[in-house]
Order: sequence, then C-alpha cells, then structure tokens
Amino acid sequence: MAATDPFTPEIAYVETSRVACDGATQTSPALGHPRVYLQIDEKGYVDCGYCDKRFILKGGIADTAPDERTDPGAGENSDGSLPSRPGV
Ligand SMILES: [Zn+2]
Repeated sequence: MAATDPFTPEIAYVETSRVACDGATQTSPALGHPRVYLQIDEKGYVDCGYCDKRFILKGGIADTAPDERTDPGAGENSDGSLPSRPGV
C-alpha cells in the first residue's frame, strides 16, 4: 500500500540473472542514470549502485527464502500475553 514511499527501495523480480537498470521508474520516469548491467550473484539478488533498486531473481534464494515475519506459526503466544507472576 506504500508503493510510492520514497524510503522504500524499488524491487523488481526478474527471471534472468543478467539485468539492466537505467533508473527510470513508473513513479519517476524523468529520473534516471546511465544504463548499467547488473549480475545477480549467488545471494539471489543485486542492488543497483545508482538508484538502489533491487533486482530479485525469481525462484532464487532471495525469492524463496523463508521470511519469519510472514510465518503464521512463529511461536509467539497467540494472545500476546507475557508470562508474569512466576509464583502463581
Ligand atoms: Zn538503477
């Protein structure tokens, strides 16, 4: 819901490990930088050095790695209560 948040780096999912970035985005097409070619490494993603846009390889490590924040069974108490009064 915060796609236009300037503090949120743009993320693009790509199907090849070789990507090009020229800084043009849907939100700011006038902004840009010289086109550069980036190589996604073994981490499964690469960040553009100019505009910090992140390219994530589909099906790669960065795409398929489990995200604890979205794990429904993270082990927290479902009612959010904290253990207190251990002597009870
Ligand atoms: Zn870029």
